[in-house]
Amino acid sequence: MDSCARCGKPMAVCVCAEVTPQPTRLRVVVLQHPQEPDVLLGSAKLATLGLARGVLRVGLSWPNLSKAVGDAAEPSRWAVVHLGGKESSRAIVAEPGKALALVDRHGAGEVDASKLDGVIVLDGTWSQAKTLWWRNAWLLKLNRVVLFPKRPSAYGKLRREPRRECLSTLEAIGLTLTELGEPADVEASLLASFDRQLAAVKASGLYKGEAPRRPRPRGPKKAGAKGAPPTGAPPKPEPAA
Ligand SMILES: [Zn+2]
Repeated sequence: MDSCARCGKPMAVCVCAEVTPQPTRLRVVVLQHPQEPDVLLGSAKLATLGLARGVLRVGLSWPNLSKAVGDAAEPSRWAVVHLGGKESSRAIVAEPGKALALVDRHGAGEVDASKLDGVIVLDGTWSQAKTLWWRNAWLLKLNRVVLFPKRPSAYGKLRREPRRECLSTLEAIGLTLTELGEPADVEASLLASFDRQLAAVKASGLYKGEAPRRPRPRGPKKAGAKGAPPTGAPPKPEPAA
């Protein structure tokens, strides 16, 4: 199947030609576990294509923030995004009406968003994100953005979310940027391209839904055909967002 050289999606579901990079003050660097690319539903590439100051980096570890970002960066001026409800951030709450808390590296003390240069977002399943945390201890030096999304992910029935608060990477980035003071147009543009992407995936018929509990037999069972091994490998469990 031919894939788009720019977004990596199969051509049948590529919508990146319609994506216009949005200008922002903040930089956005997505660190993606090398095993992640969820070719159909992954949203990190679409998100960074939609941001003039967005970058996607694929790897397991970087020696420090500057190496991850690509040029000199000061950890106290960056924040790493947590999806709400993680153990390390359980005590943190957002102000009423806000969907985000920005706190210092110790999880205490509010940080002024205007003092930030950018945000780091980890892309992958929960276990892949955990691996990225372990392999990049410098992340602990960054401020923390903790998200408390108010609406469910647009993945909807396409992907079963492991946690209610779990958003796609693109949705998490959009929400973060809005809450940190970027123009609402930026998030709206990202979400619009994500909607187009999901519609294209649905229309393509390439996504077969969540892995079934067991493989379906192919065609009616024939008498005397016993012992034929099932074809193909059993479906892999769908990774968490
Ligand atoms: Zn594309």
